[in-house]
Amino acid sequence: MTNAQLKEKLIAYSKEIGIDKIGFASSDPFLSLKDRLETQQELGYASGFEHRNIEERVHPKTHLPEARSIISIAMAYPTRMKHPPKSTKEERRGMFSRSSWGKDYHHVLNDRLNKLIAFLKQEVPEAKTKAMVDTGALSDRAVAERAGIGWSGKNTFIITPEFGSFVYLGDLITSIPFEPDEPLTDLCGSCTKCIDACPTGALEQAGQLNAQKCLSFLTQTKGFLDDEYREKIGNHLYGWDTCQLVCPYNKGVDFHSHTEMEPDPEVAKPKLLPLLTMSNREFKDRFGDIAGAWRGKKPIQRNAIIALAHFRDQSALPTLTELLKNDPRPVIRGTAAWAIGKIGEKESEEAVLLSAKKEEKDEDVLNEINKGLDLL
Ligand code: SF4
Repeated sequence: MTNAQLKEKLIAYSKEIGIDKIGFASSDPFLSLKDRLETQQELGYASGFEHRNIEERVHPKTHLPEARSIISIAMAYPTRMKHPPKSTKEERRGMFSRSSWGKDYHHVLNDRLNKLIAFLKQEVPEAKTKAMVDTGALSDRAVAERAGIGWSGKNTFIITPEFGSFVYLGDLITSIPFEPDEPLTDLCGSCTKCIDACPTGALEQAGQLNAQKCLSFLTQTKGFLDDEYREKIGNHLYGWDTCQLVCPYNKGVDFHSHTEMEPDPEVAKPKLLPLLTMSNREFKDRFGDIAGAWRGKKPIQRNAIIALAHFRDQSALPTLTELLKNDPRPVIRGTAAWAIGKIGEKESEEAVLLSAKKEEKDEDVLNEINKGLDLL
């Protein structure tokens, strides 16, 4: 069988196993990406979550010395919940971003990549492969761009003509020299909707994201959130979709082709108050299967406290007081103190904050208690 025939067979098989789009790229080094990554680091725009070694991010052969091509796959995910529960005054709810709906996409994409590997090995037993999803060293987006899956939008997402940018990406480096596909034309044109809509100005310019200002990144940090960002995250517990939602190429896009990606509304849009007192075991049972749990319970709880403050939910005050007094984590005690200041009344909550101030030893928490007192 020729490589061209094998490519056709693989494309047909990819459809059978629910891969929405597949593209093929050369395994040449990603030299323009190297310049971009170095600039990001120099400017302090990197998130710190990315693979640290730039050489490894740029050279596919460091992961598979026999590399001759890279396969990029895309799977479209839903953007609208079928029966979203209402966030009411009595029961306020938070939101996980769409990329965290349903089962953790790393597992879903790895499952499909493993199926592709098994298929390839059946046809070419000596084939060598290396699969990567998100946490791999290569940039999924750079591979997808080169493989003609979509163009790289000004919002930094890969925009496919068929599914918009609501797609998960995965890569498979192979030792088979598949004919590469053509990259797509960038169709952003003069549009700047994503740049204009970003509430923190994190898109410094077209295609350049300052992760340190990006609300999606900030929801995943573990320390105290700066005050200016607390005001902005609203009820977002994890991630941020605005720069995708405003994109004209995502208008009306809502694919429900994969049952694994269907959100459980009670997980994707959970009640806020019960989150604050959840044990590690309960958190793992409820949220352990979603992508948004990867940083553990603390950032989600911190964001839930901020969300309750955003709603000025008076019913949260007893729990927040309990956290301020007894939680061992300074970020949770401090954020609770700030939230009490936001929500409470001077007559009733001043005594709570003053009494905590007497007991507290942590400088950062004391600072938050003072902020809470100022807010009352
Ligand atoms: S919103 Fe406009 S500029 Fe931004 S990615 Fe979409 S098309 Fe491109």
